[in-house]
Parts: sequence; C-alpha cells; structure tokens
Amino acid sequence: MAKRGRLYIDGKWVSSRKTFDVINPYDGSLVGTVPLATPEMVSKAIQAAYESRETMASLPLHERARILTETSRLIEAKKELFARTIALESGKAWKYAIGEVERAIQTFKFAAAEALTLHGETVPMSAAKGAETRVAFYERFPVGVIGAITPFNFPLNLVAHKVAPAIGAGNPVVLKPASATPFTSILLVETLLKAGLPPRAINLVAGSGSVVGDAIVTDERVAMITFTGSPTVGWAIKEKCGKKKVTLELGSNSGIVVEDDADLEFAIPRCIVGAFAYSGQVCISLQRIYVNEKIYDRFVKEFVKRTKKLKMGNPLDPDTDVNPMINEAEARRVEEWIKEAVAEGAKVLTGGKRKGNVLYPTVITNVTPDMKVCCLEAFAPIVVIDKYKTFEEGVEKLNDSIYGLQAGVFTKDVNKAMYAFRKLEVGGVMINDIPTFRVDQMPYGGVKNSGMGREGLKYAMEEMTEIRLVVFNV
Ligand code: NAP
Repeated sequence: MAKRGRLYIDGKWVSSRKTFDVINPYDGSLVGTVPLATPEMVSKAIQAAYESRETMASLPLHERARILTETSRLIEAKKELFARTIALESGKAWKYAIGEVERAIQTFKFAAAEALTLHGETVPMSAAKGAETRVAFYERFPVGVIGAITPFNFPLNLVAHKVAPAIGAGNPVVLKPASATPFTSILLVETLLKAGLPPRAINLVAGSGSVVGDAIVTDERVAMITFTGSPTVGWAIKEKCGKKKVTLELGSNSGIVVEDDADLEFAIPRCIVGAFAYSGQVCISLQRIYVNEKIYDRFVKEFVKRTKKLKMGNPLDPDTDVNPMINEAEARRVEEWIKEAVAEGAKVLTGGKRKGNVLYPTVITNVTPDMKVCCLEAFAPIVVIDKYKTFEEGVEKLNDSIYGLQAGVFTKDVNKAMYAFRKLEVGGVMINDIPTFRVDQMPYGGVKNSGMGREGLKYAMEEMTEIRLVVFNV
C-alpha cells in the first residue's frame, strides 16, 4: 500500500494541500505521496531551527553523544525497514541497500565518539615577543542553523553524514532530501526524535530543489549549507550563499591505474563492484580504467567475462547485482553518450543497450579523452578501459579530468604508490583498491569540480563549528 508521508516542522508532523508522488524506479509503482512544502512552511522550519540554536549549543557533549548512540541503536533495530525503504524509493539493489544501512549505523556511532572528544587547544603565547604574560586557548562553537540538501543515491547515509555531525557539533538542522527519496529521511527524523533530539532542532521539508532548496540557501537565518549532489547545482548554490559557510560534495568521473604487478585476481572483481554497484549511481563510481599495455588484453577479457555474469533484476531480490537507474531520462542520456562515442570510433564490448530505465552494464574501449563517456560524470553502469605504456603516463591520463574526488592505483611497488599519491589531484588515493572505497570516519571530499570541504565525522564537525579564542593577560 502506498505510504503517506509528512513533513516535520517546528516540532510537529504536518501535511500540506499539495503533494508529490514518489515512484519505485523498478516497476513504476507508487511508493507514496509526500507534502510539498510551501514557502511559509520552509520559513517556519528555519525559524524553529533558528530558535533552537541555544538549546542545541548548551546540550552537554555526553548528551549529544547519547542521542547519536541511541539513533545508531534504533536504526540497527529497524535495519530491514530502512533497507526496504531505500530499495523501494531509490531502486537500490538489496545487498547495497543493507550495506548502506550498516554504514549509517556506524556513521552515528562515529559521530557520538567525535562529539565526546570535541575540543579546542592551547596556543603557545610566549612564542611571540611581548606576549609572555598571556595564556590562550580556543574552543569550538556551533555555527548555527545547518541547511542540509541531499541527493537520491544514498538516501540514508548521506543524510546521516550531515545530520549526525550537526548534532555532534551542537547545531539545529533544516533538512531537504532529494524529491525522489524522501521516505528514508522521514524514517530517520522519526528515529532521531525517538532518540531524544530536541524536537524543534530538526526540521524536514520536501519539494523541488529549485524552490524549497533555494529558499533554504537564500535565507539569512541559515548559517551553513552542506550540500551533496551534482556539480552544476552545487556550484550554483555556492554563488548564492553570500556570507554563509558552504561545503559541497559533488560528482566525478573517478578512475584507476592498474600496473602490470597488480594482483588481478583481487583487482578485477573489485573493479566490477566499483563500476556497477548501484548501477554506477555513486559519486565515486569507477568510470575510467587505465591498464598497463602488458596486461591490457588479459584484463579486458576477464573484466568483460565477469560483467556479463552480473544479475539484473528486482532490487528486493538479495541476488540482484544491477538495478534500474533512477529514471528513464537518466538512462536515455547515457545511452546517447554511448551512441555518440561509438560514432566517434569507440567499441562497446558488452552492454550498450537500454530497456526503459534499465541500462545494461556497459564496457567501452577505443576511447579518446574528449568523449563524454570519458570526460563527463556518467553516473551510470558504464566503464571505459584504456591502456598506457609507462606508469607516469597512466597517472597523467587519470589526472586528466575536470573532477578530483578519489582515485585508485593497483601496484605492489611502494615507490609507484607514493608517486601516484603525490601527483594525483584528488581528495583521496586508494592504493590497491578502487576509488569507490569509503568508510565513514575518513576525510572525504573533492578538489576541482568535485567540491570543497570535507565530510567524515571529525572533519564535518570542524566545518560545522567556529573557533573562538580567549586570551588571558595574567
Ligand atoms: P542533484 O540533482 O544535484 O540534487 C541534489 C539535491 O539538490 C536534491 O535534494 C535536489 O532537489 C537539490 N536541488 C536541485 N536544484 C537545487 C537548487 N537550485 N537549489 C537547491 N537545491 C537544489 O543531484 P542528484 O541527481 O540527486 O545526485 C546525483 C549527484 O550527486 C551526482 O553528481 C553525484 O556524483 C553527486 N553525489 C556526490 C556525492 C559526494 O559525496 N561527493 C555523494 C553522492 C552523490 P530535487 O531532488 O528536488 O531536485
């Protein structure tokens, strides 16, 4: 039966006259309807958060940690319900939906640990001539209302990456989830309230990004925008942020270099996961593979063989590997890119076909760097494989991107690993793993078009606090 969602504003669950539909990407059925927030509702939500600043700031660290720990426990108790909600509204295959819930359980635990140790430091004042009698230290203070705007592809864990550090840092939140996936956020807000979060400190509004999202971005009562989504939207938001703090977690066309000393038994299956998990709709999905020419043919043959074995189907089936894309327009866009690449000389070794919003896992070779399938973020189940002669050339090809989120390098040679680490212009380099590797306490974020600022609980809490210094003349 279709669900009826509600928004959470100023300490109350509310409805609205206008609603919008949330559609299951797998079978086109109605998951449910959700109220469309009016401008007055968004303003009320922001006001409630604004008036909760003191309540949140004065919550002792142990109480913030208790709320976060309890949230983690309650999510764990309803793991299947969360996974099912994610699978239904985002179309994510069950194994990855469950994986996302397991990560969110940890994200809240890590936030609790960070909250307990949120601290400043002393400043060695006598290092400056004339300041010998001074004693100084700083502490971290919450920035104020956090506007959190989130994408469809990780409807739980990427919301957790904003809400959990905001609570840990003592900030109230106004959350606007992606219109495709609001039910997971509704479930999460219910959970946070059950865990004892002060009611007016969390507000959930829904509706189109360009209206509801924009109202949050342009409101002066909001102190910081934490955004995860596409580069186009993200950079446009930054332009509008004025004096607000802003962190942007955006997209990429992440790649990997595979040297001839790599352990291919491990590397190839990992690359398959990196390229096709959640149909490539992951910001650090593996899109470009550069292989040393000595092992290129072997790599390609084995990669294609394994790609053909991937099982497509109902996201609720635990054996499904590849699920539909979020909608047909997205699948059509990438189908066009593939056709365009083929017209320019690329070869499709498997896949390339589309049925509705299902794009078959696609492997492309004979590419040039200017083809869209190479140089733009595909956000789809496609991967290009190219070869190189020297390791330096492989790293150069990998670096030739307008994005810079994460990169991977398979090699047993520590010198090559260090060379890649120093050269690659990205936020994170994975040695002997795919760029898609992420655990939730590590600093995570991009350079170039891929964004600014870092998530990972410690780093997000630093972004969500301001340093305030006190100097004693004693
Ligand atoms: P999106 O279209 O940019 O949407 C993201 C969020 O922004 C949604 O809540 C959307 O609302 C809202 N929005 C849209 N236009 C807005 C505006 N003018 N002002 C304020 N908010 C606005 O991205 P998506 O398709 O959901 O997600 C895919 C993208 O996210 C990919 O590029 C992917 O790489 C990136 N991503 C990055 C990371 C990371 O950590 N670096 C993680 C996951 C995803 P509506 O849903 O109502 O349009």
